[in-house]
Parts: sequence; C-alpha cells; structure tokens
Amino acid sequence: MINLYGLTLKKLEEFMLSYNQNKFRAKQLFSWIYEKKVTDFDLMSDISKSFREILKRDFCLEKPKLYIKQVASDQTIKLLLEMKDGEKVETVLMRYNYGNVACVSSQVGCNMGCSFCASGLLKKQRNLEVSEMVGEILVLNDLLEETSQRVTHVVVMGTGEPFDNYNNVIEFIRIINDQKAFAIGARHITVSTCGIPDKIIQYGQEGLQVNLAISLHAPNNELRNRLMKVNKAYPLELLIPAVKKYIELANRRVTYEYIMLKGVNDSLEHAKELVELIKPTYAYVNLIPYNQVNENGYKRADNDQVKAFMDYLMKQGVTTTIRKEFGSDIDAACGQLRAKHQWR
Ligand code: SAH
Repeated sequence: MINLYGLTLKKLEEFMLSYNQNKFRAKQLFSWIYEKKVTDFDLMSDISKSFREILKRDFCLEKPKLYIKQVASDQTIKLLLEMKDGEKVETVLMRYNYGNVACVSSQVGCNMGCSFCASGLLKKQRNLEVSEMVGEILVLNDLLEETSQRVTHVVVMGTGEPFDNYNNVIEFIRIINDQKAFAIGARHITVSTCGIPDKIIQYGQEGLQVNLAISLHAPNNELRNRLMKVNKAYPLELLIPAVKKYIELANRRVTYEYIMLKGVNDSLEHAKELVELIKPTYAYVNLIPYNQVNENGYKRADNDQVKAFMDYLMKQGVTTTIRKEFGSDIDAACGQLRAKHQWR
C-alpha cells in the first residue's frame, strides 16, 4: 500500500497515468485529501466507483499516532509522534506573532554527532519517509483546527540532518509548498543543515525559493571540529565556498546559526573571526541561546556577552538576530522529549 500523503502532485499524476486515468485525477485527489480532508475513498464522489476500488486496494492515508502532547505556558506545543514501526519522532509548534511555526524532524535520531545536541544522544535509526514528515504537519493542523488555525511556517530543524535525507526532504517541501496541498509559501519554509557542501550546492539548483540556514557555531576549524564532528569531513574551506556557490545559484541570502556557549565560542575574538569568515557570503547571523542538555557540560552564554557579541557583528555590518525562546517549561531542548521516553 502506498501512502498518498507521501506523494508530490507530480508523482501522483504519474501514478494516475500508469492506471490509464486522466492526469487531472491527481488534482482531484489532492483536493479531497488536503482541502476537504476526506480520508475515505468511498466519499470521493467525483471519482468512478471502479477506480475508487483500485484506490482502496493500492493506496492508504495514514498519519502518525499522537503519543505524547505537551503544551507550554506560552502555547508552544511539543509532540512525540509514533510511526507505524513504533519509532518515535519529535515535532514542535511555536507561536510567533507572524504565524504558527512547525519545527519538523527529518530522521529518527541523528548521526552527525554534534557534542552540544540532545538529538545525537540517540543514533540514527532510519530516515523519515515523505509521508511521515507530511504527517507531522497533518497532526499539528488537526490540533490547530479546533481554533481555526493552521501551520503557516515550517522549519526543518527538528531531529536529524535534512541533507542526509535529501530526496525525501525535497519532496516533503514540494508537497507543503503545493497550492493544492498546504500552500505554505517557499519563503515561509527553512531548511537547516550542519553543512554538507555538495548537498548545499544541489539545493541551490532545485529552483525552490526556500530559505537555507547553516549551523555554523564556530568561526574556525579547530573549535568547529570539537563542537561538530561533521567539520572533520567538511571543514570550513569546503563549507564556505559551497555556501557562496549556493547564493549564486539560488540568488538568496543565507542565515548562519550560532549557538552561544559560555566560555567556548562567545568571546569578542570569536566574533571578529566570525565576521572575517562570513563577510564574503553577505549572510545573516542568528545567535541561539543554548538549551542546556544535562548530559554534556556546556553552559548558556551570559546575556551581556550575547549582547556584546551581537553589537560587534552589527557594527561590522552583519545583520544579527537573537533567537526567541519557546516552551521553556516543557522538554524544550532539541531531542530531549524523545531521549527521555526512549530510555524509560
Ligand atoms: N541537523 C540540522 C538540523 C537540526 S538541528 C542542523 O544541524 O542544522 C537544528 C538547530 O538546533 C541547529 O542549529 C542545532 O545546532 C541547534 N541545536 C541543537 N541542540 C541545541 C540546543 N541544545 N540548544 C540550542 N540549539 C540547539
């Protein structure tokens, strides 16, 4: 059985042709499942009875199961979803003033091995299917429907490295971006990567107007090697040129994410080095307050230090923001909820 939620419109059209159906059937099906939210093929009245039987035989419409739901005092929703093989995945909804932002996982666990991150505490079990990532949005939309709201923005910043599950992530983006499906604008979608150069370049060639964020976290190889194992395979002299190439191809600016870790990467010397490193890529910087993970020893940088770091970058002409924090009274840090329930 093929899960319809995992198919782009283009793929569904190809399926329809292979069943000797008009290509237009694909649009009809999208309209039934995403606009009318109908999951029973028998109710799809503009599709012939005989073809409905075929659909029932070969296709299904399955969503992940809601395993745990936590709601914080700021209305952040954190979900642990159960996939059909029992694997569990975290999805978060953050309420910004401009919309409802879903933070989506792309893999079960992660192998990138960043030393500050809770997601990597559990090794990658497998990639998420397209239908499972779409499922993360579907479950959130079900919860939001009560208040006539929906997911308006998506960041692929949950557990996993999206560019280690490249094809599925791109298809997921095409589905949520599709006017006939979720109609989430490309500029409202962001993919965050730990920095895999050839995939960054490929992403620039997709013709998508989706945002790219790069987890940098350190301004030199020596420090980045300590924080992010991936830097040993793809050091800065490979990463930065790939980002430059991406900017040329996609004609889009990128954002560098930089977690402020006390006494590790938060000095003005680091800020200076950072400016030198990224200046040629004319990028934004997003400074991230660290969510403390008890298992590793890293501490959040002091507010004054973050402010001084930001002021320095701004003075040098680098547009810098500080990430707003959500859900601090629930298991907010990336990967914490899942890690906790896996160890039980
Ligand atoms: N693998 C991708 C996407 C998932 S991580 C990537 O590396 O970008 C999403 C972002 O959260 C990354 O910038 C990551 O470095 C950051 N992050 C991980 N653990 C964190 C923590 N405990 N506190 C704050 N940010 C964290």
